[in-house]
Amino acid sequence: MKALLTKLLSPLLLAAGFGLATDATAAPRPPNIVIILADDLGYGDLGCYGHPSIRTPNLDRMAAEGMRFTDFYSAAEVCTPSRAALLTGRYPIRSGMCHDRYRVLRRQAAGGLPASEITIAQALKTRGYATACLGKWHLGNYMNDPAHNPRRHGFDYYFGLPHSNDMNPTPAAPPGATRRLDQRAEWWAAPLFRNEELIECPADQTTLTRRYTEEAVKFIHEHKRGPFFLYLAHTFPHVPLFASGQFRRTSRRGLYGDVVEEVDWSVGRVRAALQKEGLAKNTLVFFTSDNGPWLIQGEAGGSAGPLREGKGSTWEGGMREPGIAWWPGRVQAGVVNHELACTMDLFTTALKLAGAEVPQDRVIDGVDMTPLLFGTGPDQREVFFYYRGTRLYAVRKGPFKAHYLTQSAYGPDRPVPHDPPLLFDLPHDPSERFDVATNYPDVLADLAREVERHRATVSPVRSQLEDVVKEAAP
Ligand code: MG
Repeated sequence: MKALLTKLLSPLLLAAGFGLATDATAAPRPPNIVIILADDLGYGDLGCYGHPSIRTPNLDRMAAEGMRFTDFYSAAEVCTPSRAALLTGRYPIRSGMCHDRYRVLRRQAAGGLPASEITIAQALKTRGYATACLGKWHLGNYMNDPAHNPRRHGFDYYFGLPHSNDMNPTPAAPPGATRRLDQRAEWWAAPLFRNEELIECPADQTTLTRRYTEEAVKFIHEHKRGPFFLYLAHTFPHVPLFASGQFRRTSRRGLYGDVVEEVDWSVGRVRAALQKEGLAKNTLVFFTSDNGPWLIQGEAGGSAGPLREGKGSTWEGGMREPGIAWWPGRVQAGVVNHELACTMDLFTTALKLAGAEVPQDRVIDGVDMTPLLFGTGPDQREVFFYYRGTRLYAVRKGPFKAHYLTQSAYGPDRPVPHDPPLLFDLPHDPSERFDVATNYPDVLADLAREVERHRATVSPVRSQLEDVVKEAAP
């Protein structure tokens, strides 16, 4: 009887044993990473950041179920260097993606992200991730040189525009058209690409947010067995503004509100797709913006809330952004985090989560945010540097920010030097109105030491860049 029982049960015992062995030895599947980047969205443009009339229920819910940062920064005050920093984990001065006029910001520029740079997509490919870039690229115009296409920088799939949506006006566009609220689609010859093929020109910009979203949902469905990295870089709310018929004239904030509310809808669709595919508990979603609001666009530009200035400036409004992390069961829910963090940290965090090696042959400025996100340890970032082009304008450590140079976003074309620097206590004075330098000589001395240490790591790069700029200057 005992022998018979053993014989009958042995396949079950073997199967159970095998199952246990498999569970015990299999490496856990690394998480999917989704980064959603808005363009020119201000710190004050979302309901969960205090906007009184723009409705953002999806982002508000993402913040309620996840972590909302109050002191999260983009690494530059304009599009191109900011995106380079996010994808490489490095201050743009290190990759040379910091001098916009001559390198990549303009449509005619021949420059682009150097092939030697390692993007999040390339790093995650080494761990078997499927990768997609949807939306605005702006790290080199691949219409001038195919080497700048996202597909050459680690992305398996790409659907989007090469640069900003105002960079290809047709002859029909009147001067100053970007400042008008009532846009006409035929003024903008926005070229839409799938991978390396031009599929539509001009793209109907009223469809872009919806189509990026459909592509994102499709990519999630097709790669649900994962892992995947999705970089969804919306064209909006960069000016000129376009919303689909479903959203146009629906917001109390006018067309700008329509556009932001459609981006919010898109975030909801992406989260719903992750939930439908059963992926929410194995996916980190992070939402932020590339730089602050384009204030000179009047009603067509956003709001930095209580922060000073906007896009193009190293005052807080130019670089401090909404930052929302969501990963049910992993990222702490309903937490408002006041620690210092920035887009470069997304690089290091993504690599750590994927089990990819953080490059050792170059300076990486991003730090691992997982202790902050999971509530397992202290903040890893102590200092943040504010650059405009090749020049260091300001530094923040803890609550204090020192400005060595200041410049209005679109004012006189010269920075104003400050010696001694201006010093602001940001939690006390988020609008940077009250200079407290005379009260804190020790803080100024400490910040000066931080700057000295940092400069020692970038000065050779800086001199090379200045040569490039001199050669390129007309
Ligand atoms: Mg931008």
